[in-house]
Amino acid sequence: MKLNDLGKISSSFPPTAKMPVLFLGHGSPMNAIEENEFVQGFRKIGQEIPKPNAILCISAHWETEGTFVTAMDHPKTIHDFYGFPKALFDVEYPALGSRALASETKKIITSTEVKDDHSWGLDHGCWSFAKTMYPNADIPIIQMSLDYRQGTRYHYDLAKQLQSLRRKGILIIGSGNLVHNLGILNWNNPNAGYDWAIEANEGFKHFIKVSNHTQLMQYKSLGKAVELSVPTPEHYLPLLYTLALKEDNDSVTFFNDKLVYGSIAMTSVIIG
Ligand code: ZN
Repeated sequence: MKLNDLGKISSSFPPTAKMPVLFLGHGSPMNAIEENEFVQGFRKIGQEIPKPNAILCISAHWETEGTFVTAMDHPKTIHDFYGFPKALFDVEYPALGSRALASETKKIITSTEVKDDHSWGLDHGCWSFAKTMYPNADIPIIQMSLDYRQGTRYHYDLAKQLQSLRRKGILIIGSGNLVHNLGILNWNNPNAGYDWAIEANEGFKHFIKVSNHTQLMQYKSLGKAVELSVPTPEHYLPLLYTLALKEDNDSVTFFNDKLVYGSIAMTSVIIG
């Protein structure tokens, strides 16, 4: 198949059954090359949900002034981390981009001007699980950035405008971690969470289950456990992108619901 043909295929997205929406707790970049229960969780989901026409990923690791979508045909694999083995830096994830999806995304978001980006690519917040879910890299994937200047309501309202993509075979994925405090990791306990991390994880799941998105947007009022769990917003905000796309009849399912190294929750959510 020639590139031109691929371009043609991805230039339109015919109607499909409603796609689920995911929030993935991505955790350590090492999940890209290790075999563990979380990787197995990602793989299972990749096999169980309908194969998407393309993926739109909102990663904790791409913060910008304004909102951008990657608009290149061949997004590069970005190794945005330090101190990991060479094997991880050697990973390439050669999925195509999708200018068609970038332009569709820009068209349907009307609350702000979404701009094309030609320099980013795929950061580990997206390729680390994509490599497991779609090892053949045969699904085009684009990223949308987080405008770091904006509050939770802005992100939630922006995400709501992506709703029509779910019925065009687009898999929308928010990628972060519900509990993410790298400053106080407990290296001696890779398979457990601090009490406050467990409390915050349970609290988040409760509000997700009962669809109390208002409370989740006002997470700063949830007390000390949440304050410790969300010291900076970038790993939490992708959750709001996922929740904003929940329709009344969508189910909510959790997987990879575990804490690691004290202060990271791998908890992931399937909506729909
Ligand atoms: Zn991360």
